[in-house]
Formats: sequence, C-alpha cells, structure tokens
Amino acid sequence: MIKEVLMKVVLSSVLMSLFLLGCGKGEKEEKVESFEIKELATDRLCITVVYDNTAYHEGLRSDWGFACVIDADGRKLLFDTGAKGDLLVGNLDKLACHPREIEKVILSHEHWDHVGGLAELLKINSDVEVYLLKSFPNKVKGIVTDEGAGLVEVSGPQVICPGIYTTGVMGRAPEEQSLIISTDKGALVITGCAHPGIVEIVQRARELTGQDILFVMGGFHLGRASDKKVKEIINEFRDMGVRYVGPCHCTGEAQIEMFRKVYGHRCLDIGVGREITGIDFMN
Ligand SMILES: [Zn+2]
Ligand SMILES: [Zn+2]
Repeated sequence: MIKEVLMKVVLSSVLMSLFLLGCGKGEKEEKVESFEIKELATDRLCITVVYDNTAYHEGLRSDWGFACVIDADGRKLLFDTGAKGDLLVGNLDKLACHPREIEKVILSHEHWDHVGGLAELLKINSDVEVYLLKSFPNKVKGIVTDEGAGLVEVSGPQVICPGIYTTGVMGRAPEEQSLIISTDKGALVITGCAHPGIVEIVQRARELTGQDILFVMGGFHLGRASDKKVKEIINEFRDMGVRYVGPCHCTGEAQIEMFRKVYGHRCLDIGVGREITGIDFMN
C-alpha cells in the first residue's frame, strides 16, 4: 500500500514537471492526470515479435519495419503494424494470434514501416482503440475513423491499460511515443524507431515509473551512429541500470553486435517469431 502511494506521487510529480516544461507562452492550461503504477507479473506477460527486419523462426516473413504483440494478463495489444498488411496478418496467423483478439493498437510514429499494416488489420478487426499522436497525418487518422475503430490522440504520458503506459509525445519531426510496461521485476520499454533518442526514452520511463529498467527492446535508430556514440549509449544504459536489451529493426547490425559484446546473454536475439517471457529475465 505504502509503495503504491509513493509510486503515485512519483508519477504525478513527473507528469507535472513534463507539463510545465512543455507549457510555453500562450498555451492553454490543461488538467494534469495522475495515475497509479500497477506492476504486472512477468510470468503473466508475453511479448511476441510479429514484424521485423529479420526472422527468428523459419516460415515467418521478415521485412523492414516493426510490430509486436503484448499479451498481458490475457489482454492483447499490438504495438506498431509494420509496413505491409498482408505480411503482418500472415505472421500473426502463423503465430497463433488472430487479429480479432487484439484490443488496442499503439502506433509509435507516423513512418510507413510502423503504420503501413494498420488498414489491413482494421479491415479484419475494427473493434479496437488506436493510440496515435495528435501530429499524425489526417491520412492515418482517416484509416482509423473510416473503419469505425476508436481513435485516441495521445499528447502526454497516459495509461493504456493497467500496467501499460505510453511515454507520451517525445521529440519532433517525427514525434514519437514509446511503450512502458511496469512489472514486478522492473519496467520494460518498447520503441518503434527511437527517433527522440533511445537514452532519452529510457530516462523518461524511469522517471514515469520510478522503477529500474529491466528490458529495452525495439529499433534504437543507430544505423549511422559512430562506434564512439554507440559506446557512450551502452555506458549510459549501464549507468541507468538497464539489465537486458533487445535491439532490432533500425538499430544497425554492427551496432547490435556492440550491444551483444557488452551485454552477452542479456542481449536477446530479436526477430519475427521471438517470444519474450519471464524466463528470459531469470539470469
Ligand atoms: Zn522504423
Ligand atoms: Zn521511423
């Protein structure tokens, strides 16, 4: 009980400071939401990669882009949709996750390798809420409204469902949101392309949850980063106590190798078909 109260205080104070930072001249004052952090049990959590540049298992199709399904306490969320709808739906079928089981879709940013599969998915299941950013092009918002799906325009950090949150808008051109999952072993961070900076995203997740970071997965967007820059980022990850990493998509092959060298078996191989469960965080 005391812990829960403390977490609520941490979160609401961070939200307040984020709000104040973002509150420039002439902006209207908005009510700042505060919410409690709920810790999910890692043994009730499964993340399945359904779209990535590489395949983890045979028979699944890889392509430039990213998407994963989060199964938390039996509720299924889709984070990003990859570039091509048929490929996304085909992989979902092979991974025994019917698109109709998905309750919510969270889109990290407007780039086509993350939103391209949305229309095809909504044709099969429009009974979902789609979380995107206010700055998304009307074309993408129209895909959601045309199919009659729920549209949630994200600005600040908010709860998506118990234990799962969005960082809220970060960066610019493109703006991006990342997903945070709070667990009994620490917070998990899932990124699309990490355009706002992977270190900045992890920092925000730490501030919002008040938790240590168990795992960071997704595109880290380091394909053009120098060795020096990647080393700095890895050092910052270690300073921030990031225990496991799963760099994929736009991280860059050589850059993923650098993470693997330092993190060893705590650098998880990611690709289409990879399932991450509590067992992955046992040692
Ligand atoms: Zn991308
Ligand atoms: Zn991108």
